This record gives sequence, structure tokens and C-alpha cells, in this order.
Amino acid sequence: MSHERVVLVTGGNRGIGRAIAERFVSEGYTVAVTARSGEGPEGTLTVRADVTDATSLDAAYTEVEQQLGPVGVVVANAGITKDTLLLRMTEEDFDSVVSTNLGGAFRVVKRAAKGMLRAKWGRVILISSVVGLYGSAGQINYSSSKSALVGFARSLTRELGSRGITANVVAPGFIETDMTAALPEDTQAEYKKNIPAARFGAADEVAAAVVWLASDDAAYISGAVIPVDGGLGMGH
Ligand code: NDP
Repeated sequence: MSHERVVLVTGGNRGIGRAIAERFVSEGYTVAVTARSGEGPEGTLTVRADVTDATSLDAAYTEVEQQLGPVGVVVANAGITKDTLLLRMTEEDFDSVVSTNLGGAFRVVKRAAKGMLRAKWGRVILISSVVGLYGSAGQINYSSSKSALVGFARSLTRELGSRGITANVVAPGFIETDMTAALPEDTQAEYKKNIPAARFGAADEVAAAVVWLASDDAAYISGAVIPVDGGLGMGH
């Protein structure tokens, strides 16, 4: 199947973002990724952007529009962790995580909304996390930023839902990427015990849900939170 639709994925040089970009390419979409470093997968356009900086994101977005045409699908994926317990968490630990994970989504979606309104079609997909609603000791900054994306998608659905635009959240559980490789082995083993699927997920399993949300089959789904977590978060 081939698509005229253009997709932009933030943080598409590695991890989940890269897998999302690869899957959109394999489905025939025209794909751009933002990256601070490195390159997106083969067949994508890579543009430089730091999602904490509206000016750099704006310039990158304009470059994508100029080279590939109007963007129909935006995936806000770029994210970081700075884990520590509340009493040790600095203002900087808190602000940098919130500004990347939540502020980054705000900046790219705000920039994208104009073109989507013009086209009367758009797909906004925000990459949250199971810990947004489940909670996680040592991740007050991260879980706050991730649960906020649910309110974001639902408010956006109410603002733009009548214009052919959907906004959804994908909430991965533990996925094998650099982010989880950084966890100590005993912590990883402990997490696995609590996952009904008894394994970490693959980035491509998250990508499959994202690509489906962007499809015409998902046109009537908006404001939803789709877990891809092997059953870890059930009901959260
Ligand atoms: P990685 O650490 O592997 O990759 C993070 C990506 O985000 C990189 O491309 C990185 O770019 C980019 N990024 C970080 N900060 C910025 C910034 N300021 N500006 C632009 N790009 C930035 O993470 P994952 O692939 O594991 O995670 C991707 C998303 O999925 C995140 O939002 C994460 O919270 C979420 N998630 C991940 C889970 C997991 O188990 N792995 C579970 C649940 C959610 P660079 O290479 O330049 O640093």
C-alpha cells in the first residue's frame, strides 16, 4: 500500500522512534525524523531539532514541509528520564524531563496543527509510558510528564476532533532500547516478574500500534490510551 501522507517522528534516530519510522517507511509513507544526533533509518529524511527549543523545532518542521509537503501524521516520541527519589530530585531534573517529554510534544503538535487544520485531516500520536498512570518510585518527573500527555490528547481531541484530526496516546511498557538497557540487571529481572507476558517488548511492537492509529481504519479513535505493555498496566 502506498500513501501520499507525510509522517514526522521526533527522536527517530534510535530506539522506539527509529522503529516507528522504519515501520511507516515499510508501509509506504513518506517519512521524516528529527534527530539531535545521528540519522534516521534508510528511506527517511533527517532534520536536526532539539524538542526543548521551539525555534529549532520550527525550522526543522518547515524544512520537512518544504522538502516533502504538508505533514499529516505527527508522532511525539522524543523523551528522556532523569530518575531519582523525590527528596533528591532537583528543579533541573524535573524541568528538563517535563520540557522534553511534555513540552516537546506541545511544541511539535502546536506547529503541526496549522497544516492539519488546513488539510482537514491529521493524526497526532503521543508516546507516553505505562508508568504515566501506573506510577513508579524514582520517576516523579517522568511519570508526571507522561500522564500529562493523556490530558493533552484528550483536550486536543475536544479542540480539533471535528476537523478530521485525531489525537491518541500510546503507552509502552518495558521495551528493549537504550533507555531500559540503562537499568541494572536485577531491576530488569524484578520488572519482568510483574509483566504477564514475562518479557520486555520490542520497539517494533510499539511501532505496529502507532502505524495502525495513523491509518484510515483508526479514523474514529481519538483521546484513547493504547497500552503496548504485555499486560503490565492493565486498567491503568
Ligand atoms: P531512547 O533513549 O532509546 O531514545 C530517545 C530518543 O529521544 C532519541 O532519539 C533522543 O535523541 C531523543 N531525544 C531525547 N531528548 C531530546 C531532545 N531534547 N530533542 C530531540 N530529541 C531528543 O528512548 P526510547 O526509544 O526507549 O524511548 C522513546 C520514547 O518512548 C520516549 O518518549 C520514552 O519515554 C518512551 N518510552 C520508552 C519505554 C522503554 O521501555 N524504552 C517505555 C515507555 C515509554 P538523541 O539520540 O539525540 O539523544
